[in-house]
Amino acid sequence: MKLLKDAWNGVKGFVFPNQCIGCGYSLFQYEHHICRLCESSLPVVNNLAGGATLLHDRLGGRVELSQAYSYLKFFQGSITQKILYRIKYQGGQSLAREMGEKFGEDLLRYFIKENNMVLVPVPLHPMKLQMRGYNQSEEIANGISKTLNIPVETDVLERVQFHVSQTQKRKDARWEEIKNDFSSKLEKVCNRDIILVDDVCTSGATIEACANSLKLNQVKSINLLTLAIAGEKYQ
Ligand SMILES: [Zn+2]
Repeated sequence: MKLLKDAWNGVKGFVFPNQCIGCGYSLFQYEHHICRLCESSLPVVNNLAGGATLLHDRLGGRVELSQAYSYLKFFQGSITQKILYRIKYQGGQSLAREMGEKFGEDLLRYFIKENNMVLVPVPLHPMKLQMRGYNQSEEIANGISKTLNIPVETDVLERVQFHVSQTQKRKDARWEEIKNDFSSKLEKVCNRDIILVDDVCTSGATIEACANSLKLNQVKSINLLTLAIAGEKYQ
């Protein structure tokens, strides 16, 4: 069976040279980034059966969230880790949009849409945006927008401080560094239902900093959608 699959993948590789992010096997023409097999085994958070509390638990007490959902569980060695890496560092704009669309399809089953909601991607600092060429959270938001039919606005939040890298820092040090990173304008925030969109939630410090800025400008409600939620316990 394995020999057969290897042979078949050899044929596929000749005709369609793209490889699956998850298993490395060649993709069919109708597959994008991820093969059907890996797609069917994505570590999706079951938001209809308890998963909906994950982000609330992570941010518990720090941010008052109306609705908050993650799509994928993130842990070392997971396909989610590979997806996030490509989205962030390997020019994976179309992958970010496609993952956003998949997330949107999942959300259709349980997300409650209010009138005048708006998707607000967590912004990058302009220097980082220039270096990367795109904001991965904006691409994810564009994918969600396509499915949920909620507009994306990129001028609601602004990132006003630049840091080299925050991933290795301790939680308290990271918070000290990031807490004043974001700025927003009253006329863009006041009395609005805002859905923050981010690629991954780890400690929740970024979301807390965004939320603090929105609260200063009298936001009506804050909702949160993250493509992934990190945590070794999800393995
Ligand atoms: Zn695969």
